[in-house]
Amino acid sequence: MYVCIFLFFLTLLLWILFYYYYQASFDRHLRTFIEFNTDITVITDRIYIIAMNQAGLQFFEKTDLKALLSKTRYLSKLIKEEVSDDNRYITTKTWVTKVERDHPIKVTISRPTINQTFMMHVSKINSRRYMVTFRNISKTLAEKNVMTQIAEKDELTQIYNRKKFNSMLSLAIREATVYATPFTIILFDIDHFKSVNDTYGHNVGDKVLIQISALVRNLLRGDDLLARWGGEEFIILSPSTQENEAYELANRLRKEIELFPFTHVKKMTCSFGVAEFLTNDTAAELIQRADKALYKAKVSGRNKVSIAQD
Ligand code: GH3
Ligand code: MG
Ligand code: MG
Repeated sequence: MYVCIFLFFLTLLLWILFYYYYQASFDRHLRTFIEFNTDITVITDRIYIIAMNQAGLQFFEKTDLKALLSKTRYLSKLIKEEVSDDNRYITTKTWVTKVERDHPIKVTISRPTINQTFMMHVSKINSRRYMVTFRNISKTLAEKNVMTQIAEKDELTQIYNRKKFNSMLSLAIREATVYATPFTIILFDIDHFKSVNDTYGHNVGDKVLIQISALVRNLLRGDDLLARWGGEEFIILSPSTQENEAYELANRLRKEIELFPFTHVKKMTCSFGVAEFLTNDTAAELIQRADKALYKAKVSGRNKVSIAQD
């Protein structure tokens, strides 16, 4: 009887020893394997960090794995935040398996000095080991941002261009239709601008366009959108704003422009047309009403604000 119990425990002990030996040798192989990867690569059992390649240790400015583990043993602690709409994964305990099953997710990782964005992939090796790779996409994102900025801005004045305005206007129309919130557009045009070019030259004309853009942009709220509609015409999209409030705003802009000491040209004025979005308006109809109002401001003597008629 005692011999049987002894043999049972001996077998169990040998089995455990064998298991740990096997696991340690398996992990050693994984460690060698992940060194071939130039992206940050981590071996995890889903919760703890088992191994990390040199690319990762370098990123975290650690000399070896021990130094990293003395800071944290948890994989989720490496990740600063999930860059998604609703932080769906990292908050759950089983996020590694979920990401493995679903798709890669975007995360930021913070180093002592900077945050960088990564695409995180999870691959299952076996039931106790997962490989997590982080591909740095910060540079690609930064380049994309620069390209977007270039595509959205007017080269001379550095305010938004007509294309960006049109896409924001479409969005505003959709939002106003769904939530029944008001918004207003203000179209304005520099008075007698041709005579600035004719008298002082094109460069001075350009300078006036730059100065008016900067002046108006600084006078607007953060969520108002200012764009160059074309030539010496500008347009503002003012969210959550009704006709009378937009009239006040346009009048304030008109006065500030009139008082501004422009380089060379002492005084400039602008005429304004205001049009509030009406239910079922298309973008073209709304702009046409603002344009008509602007025309009215021009023919009634310039340096005026006029509101569109329904
Ligand atoms: P109004 O009061 O009726 O608006 O008269 P205006 O002279 O401002 O209007 P008009 O349409 O006759 O002239 C607009 C001028 O704007 C003509 C064009 O040369 C000038 N212009 C358009 N774009 C630019 C630009 O980028 N730089 C310069 N310097 N001038 C421009
Ligand atoms: Mg003009
Ligand atoms: Mg014009």
